[in-house]
Amino acid sequence: MSSSVALRLPSIDGLLRHPAYAPLAERYGRDSLLTGLRQLLDELRPGALSGQLSAVEIGAEVLAGRVGERLAQQQRSNVRRVFNLTGTVLHTNLGRALLPDEAIDAVQMAARYPLNLEFDLASGKRGDRDDLIEGLIRELTGAEAVTVVNNNAAAVLLTLNSLGARKEGIISRGELIEIGGAFRIPDIMARAGVRLHEVGTTNRTHARDYEAAISPRSGLIMRVHASNYSIEGFTARVPTAELAELAHRHGLPLLEDLGSGSLLDLTRWGLPAEPTVRQALLDGADIVTFSGDKLLGGPQAGLIVGRKELIARIKKNPLKRALRVDKLTLAALEAVLGLYRDPDRLAERLPSLRLLTRPQADIFAQASRLQPLMAEVLGSLWQVSAVEALGMIGSGSQPVARLPSAALCMRPQVSKRLRGRCLLNLEAALRALPIPVLGRMGDDALWLDLRQLDDEPAWLAQLPQLQVDP
Ligand SMILES: *Cc1c(COP(=O)(O)O)cnc(C)c1O
Repeated sequence: MSSSVALRLPSIDGLLRHPAYAPLAERYGRDSLLTGLRQLLDELRPGALSGQLSAVEIGAEVLAGRVGERLAQQQRSNVRRVFNLTGTVLHTNLGRALLPDEAIDAVQMAARYPLNLEFDLASGKRGDRDDLIEGLIRELTGAEAVTVVNNNAAAVLLTLNSLGARKEGIISRGELIEIGGAFRIPDIMARAGVRLHEVGTTNRTHARDYEAAISPRSGLIMRVHASNYSIEGFTARVPTAELAELAHRHGLPLLEDLGSGSLLDLTRWGLPAEPTVRQALLDGADIVTFSGDKLLGGPQAGLIVGRKELIARIKKNPLKRALRVDKLTLAALEAVLGLYRDPDRLAERLPSLRLLTRPQADIFAQASRLQPLMAEVLGSLWQVSAVEALGMIGSGSQPVARLPSAALCMRPQVSKRLRGRCLLNLEAALRALPIPVLGRMGDDALWLDLRQLDDEPAWLAQLPQLQVDP
C-alpha cells in the first residue's frame, strides 16, 4: 500500500516512549537501539517525504519490528556454523578437521582455568610448552623431539630458516609445488633466507642429480610430499631412505615436508595409502613437518618432529616465538594425539576419520530417506534424486583419490537457457538458511554430498524455511 502524500516520520523520543521499544532497549542496550533507530529513520526519510510510504509503514510497531531485525542481524556472530555437503571432507575454506569431544573438553578447560602451559609441576620451575605433547609424539612417531607452531606453512618456514639460512637448499624440480594461496616452496625458501638449488626435472630426479649439486655451500636437502597433484607415467624419484643416506654421507640434514602427515597407515580403514610420519623418520628423514588439522584430525597447527639437536636449534630461532601456538591449540592437540594410543577405537572417536570411513551404503540409505522430503520442499520444478557420488579427502591429501559417497542431486526441470539461473537461485537459498547448507555444482545440477550430514535433525528442522526464487 502506498500513498502519494508526504509524511513526517515519528520522532525518536516519541517512538522510545512506545511500549514496543522497551524489550529492545532491554535486550540490546539503549545506545544500540538509538543508533539503529536513527539509521533506519534516515533511510526511510526520503521515501516518506516523497509520499512513497504509507502511514502504516512508518507506524511505531512496524518500525520496532524493523529495528529489532536490524539489531538481531548486527548481533549475530560473523563466525557461523555451516553444513559442509561439498563432498570434500577436510575443506580448508570450511575449517578442515572437526575436533573430537575429548579435544573440545580440553579446550574448554584451558579457556576457563589457569594451566601449566610453561610451568613444570614436578620441579616447580619454568617449563616449555612443547613438553606438553613431546611424550605422546615420541610414542606415536618414534621422533626424538618435537616443536609445534601455528600451521605447517610456519613449520616449513621455521625449519628452513633455522637449518639452512645463507646456505643452499637442494630440492627436486618435481617438488617445487604451490599449495593453495600464496604457499609456494621457492617463495618460502627465499623468505627463509635459503638459496634454492633445484635439481633433476619435473618428472624424473635421480640420486646423481642430488649428488652433483652438493658443495660446501649446501645447507640441507629438502623433500616435499606432492600432496595436491600427482605425476604419472615416465617418472623417477629417489626413495627417502636412499636420499637420507646420501644426505648423511655429506653431513647434510634431510627435511621432509609431509603435508597432511598421517600418524597411522590409513589402508587399515580402506583409505588410500599416505606416507606416515613414523615411516619417514625410519627412512632417515632428520626433520619431518606436517599439519595438525589435515589427516591428523586435530586443531590448526604445524608439527616439527625429528632429531633432538636439530629441534633444539629450531627452538632457539627467535621466529619460533613469533610462530608458536597458544594454550587452546595445545590442549586440543594433546587430546587428539591421546586418541591415537588406541587405534582400534580411533575411527569411532576421531570425527575426521569417522567421516572419511563412513560406508557408501550408509550414506546412500540416508540420501534415499531424505530424497522425498527434499522433493516435496522444492516442488515440481525440481527433479530430486538420491545418487552415488564421488567425494574427496581434501586439503591436498590424495588429490586423485575419490571417496565413494552418495548425494541428493537436484536438477531444475526447465529449458537449458534458464537452468543456470535456477541452480544459482537454489544455491543461494540453501546458503541463506539459518545454518547455511553448502553443496557443489556440476553437470547442470546441484549436489549435496551427505557423507558429512551428521546432524540430520538440525538439517531437517530448517528445511521448511527454504525459499527458492523461481
Ligand atoms: C597443506 C600443506 C602445507 C601447508 O600446511 P598448512 O597447515 O595449511 O599451513 C605445506 N606443505 C604441504 C606438502 C602441504 O600439503
